[in-house]
Amino acid sequence: MPIKIENLVYIYQKGTPFEKSALKGFSLTVNDGETIGIMGATGSGKSTLLQLLNGLLQPAAGTITIDGLLLGGMKKASLAKLRQQVAMVFQYPEQQIFEEHVYDEVAFGPINMGLDAQAVEERVIKALIQVGLDPAVYRKRSTANLSGGEKRRLAIAGMLASEPRYLLLDEPSAGLDPEMRVLLFENMSELNRLEKMTIIMVSHHLSDLLALCSRIIVLDNGQLVLDVASSKMLDSSEQLAQLGVDLTPAQQVVQQLKQRGWGITRSPRNPEEAGRLIVEKLANKL
Ligand code: ADP
Repeated sequence: MPIKIENLVYIYQKGTPFEKSALKGFSLTVNDGETIGIMGATGSGKSTLLQLLNGLLQPAAGTITIDGLLLGGMKKASLAKLRQQVAMVFQYPEQQIFEEHVYDEVAFGPINMGLDAQAVEERVIKALIQVGLDPAVYRKRSTANLSGGEKRRLAIAGMLASEPRYLLLDEPSAGLDPEMRVLLFENMSELNRLEKMTIIMVSHHLSDLLALCSRIIVLDNGQLVLDVASSKMLDSSEQLAQLGVDLTPAQQVVQQLKQRGWGITRSPRNPEEAGRLIVEKLANKL
């Protein structure tokens, strides 16, 4: 079932001199299995939106329907169920790793769900594989001895072990080196492809969003100002520039060629794709 967000309004510190409208009538439909990237300047309302989707905040007005369920006014038990379905990975999730061993960290959620030992084991193994941590190598490892990238992926595995259908990621690659970033987004793409998991991700880095997301939306001052397929971003380059969003270098190269009449319409997701598009066109031109 899609996520339907309609006319969402959120106001911080309402009725005080510090009152601040973070979302001002935001609407969006997220289809099953979509990967959506959210951009926007600091303070545009991105984190507020994720927290509303996870039920951590309650809207002042408007509605969110997930799986046909209206989020507002849910009882505690329904909210807990919702959080299993909608997993939220905050920035630097590894700061919340608290178990000594990898297995126990991932097993925590499934055990709390009341699953038997075998089901827990299956969930742990599956989740570790999903984030690219070989269970045979990692299950007994001490969490303290993992690298930054491994810890990040372990924290995400802990979320995946509850088998959510929706994954909300807030700057998931912050502080990771380029290699780890690539690996993380490969894992997340596989998760979307194989499990049909819907992923909504916030990032300041367009290249990160393009590594995973097929649809990009831009927030400005609490409102949705752009909603575009990532393959069609070149068509919105002027609007993106006005919004302060710079195209990636790969997109800029293709954009330049497009403006010189090369007839390329697709916006590349990464340098490899840009290279492929150019080689194809060159082959036709020669
Ligand atoms: P983003 O994630 O895009 O940086 P946020 O959703 O964090 O934006 O914030 C949206 C707006 O709400 C900003 O103007 C921010 O200053 C304000 N805001 C966020 N959290 C609070 C809070 N706890 N109290 C008051 N204002 C807040």
